[in-house]
Amino acid sequence: MEKRRGIPVSPGVAIGPALVLDTEGVRIPHQTVPPDRVEGEVGRLRVALDEAAAAARASRQNLSTRLGAAFGNIFGAQESLFEDPAFRAKIEEQLRANSFSAEYAVSRSIRDFIKRLETTAQKFGPDAVADARRRAGDLYDVERQVLYALLGYPSGSVAPAGGERVVILANDLMPSDTADFSPRTVWAFATESGGPTSHTAILANALEIPAVVGVGRFLTDVSGGDQVIVDGDRGLLILDPDPGTVAEYEERRVALLNRADRFHALRDKPSVTHDGTPIRLLGNIELAHEAAHCAEWGAEGVGLYRSEFLYLNKAADPTEEEHYEAYKSVVETIGPDKPVVIRTLDLGADKVFSLSALLTTEKNPFLGLRSVRLCLRKLDLFRTQLRAILRAAVAGDVRVMFPMISTVDELRKCKTLLNEVKDDLEDAGVPYKRDVRVGTMIEVPSAALMADVLAREVDFFSVGTNDLVQYTLAADRNNENVADLYNPADPAVLRLIDGVVRAGRDRGVEVNVCGEMSGEPLYTTLLVGLGLRQLSATPRKLPEVKRVIRHLTVEEAERVAAQVRRLDTARQATNYLRDHLRRILPEAVD
Ligand code: PEP
Ligand code: MG
Repeated sequence: MEKRRGIPVSPGVAIGPALVLDTEGVRIPHQTVPPDRVEGEVGRLRVALDEAAAAARASRQNLSTRLGAAFGNIFGAQESLFEDPAFRAKIEEQLRANSFSAEYAVSRSIRDFIKRLETTAQKFGPDAVADARRRAGDLYDVERQVLYALLGYPSGSVAPAGGERVVILANDLMPSDTADFSPRTVWAFATESGGPTSHTAILANALEIPAVVGVGRFLTDVSGGDQVIVDGDRGLLILDPDPGTVAEYEERRVALLNRADRFHALRDKPSVTHDGTPIRLLGNIELAHEAAHCAEWGAEGVGLYRSEFLYLNKAADPTEEEHYEAYKSVVETIGPDKPVVIRTLDLGADKVFSLSALLTTEKNPFLGLRSVRLCLRKLDLFRTQLRAILRAAVAGDVRVMFPMISTVDELRKCKTLLNEVKDDLEDAGVPYKRDVRVGTMIEVPSAALMADVLAREVDFFSVGTNDLVQYTLAADRNNENVADLYNPADPAVLRLIDGVVRAGRDRGVEVNVCGEMSGEPLYTTLLVGLGLRQLSATPRKLPEVKRVIRHLTVEEAERVAAQVRRLDTARQATNYLRDHLRRILPEAVD
């Protein structure tokens, strides 16, 4: 038996026979052709690009139906590229200038492009590098689709057609591979390469298939049909498991299934403490179709719609209609009476198409032109989104929320723009909602410290602990070297949250917490004890949080919070919370 560690990207465990996908890249038969064959190669290239475009179109339609338009867009982007005259001309130019074979011209052009992309990204910091990596993954997929078409490989699906369910093992999986997977045919997958933010990882999560990526070389040690285990919770791939381990995992698999059943049973139970205080649970979503997950896991609305995904994988910024359609579909899924909090664009310059001209070399991108700072520099972009939000608000309880606010002035500027946009819509006779509720994220320490003043400006606060922890402790949320500093239970962070809740209470402003902390049962008692009556988290995490809530009394939660507030360090606080949770709900502690 061998245990290999990788990056967990989609939770759950699976045991099953391996299906090993071809580890070889596509072999290009020859690099050049005699000059009299060049035009023939151009002809082959054009046919292959048309075929690849047709395949991408089919994937887009398939995925849009299964998961929604935002996932379909991954292939919409590929389809546009295959059809893009400039892209096609560039490859033909390389082919003619060097008498390249069609295959080599495709490969060379795309790889040159990826190299330029990655070199440029280096200058813009970790966000840009992660984004470039994701786009490179998509471009390798594009390359492979055209090469398949040129070489006459059967295009498309690597997914098993049916029969026995399998665990897929591969060097890497392209988004177009993963898109065809279904939990009915694929138990899980593991790959040698790949990163946590790739589209393959995101798709695995959306499809609810356990997955581990970036395991390093293992394919030489396994053959098709071997029994393997994928542990998507701990990031493990277990080859040739011994009977004890198989039994242990079988037990865990069944326990997880039972837990899922129990959680589904909790879905329709009210989220109230043991002594009857309601705690509203809301869902965080990134894509419009995930609104359905909110209903599935018992969320009472959308507490955070990260609208960034609308901007990714696109050749141009989303139009007002695209924003509007996405928001409207969320409202339709959630229903007109439940809140849908749409957070305006929260991205760095690297990810927004129209902003490429604004790109500057920022030494500290996390402290630079992010989020609302960027929007206030690109008012057209900001207006487009605000118009769509105000229009979609006609259909339900849509609220608008500004991210990364660090000064009162900044918030006022956003509100002024919102009012201008309302006037424009009024003048144009376009239906919109005038009295839409406005909120601000509290995720920068300056905002937390000024919460009493900010409270005069808004209807609600949402504490973004992911960033609040990072900026309070000056510890990058993605840097494992400082992971020991990055802790939501740090006393400094708790003081800030406490202050925000008090400021909200004094001014009658609703306070929500929407960082990952909200989805961790470890912190539920503390947050309720600090006075939170609303939490927003990934929908799948809500039942576990609800279970803790239903075991608590407010008095006990307040006692716990007061005790934790007296402790000096994050470690003491975490230990105290773990002990307490173990006492009230032993099975909730690992
Ligand atoms: C946060 O910072 O806590 C938050 C919810 O926003 P994001 O994770 O999208 O930065
Ligand atoms: Mg944030």
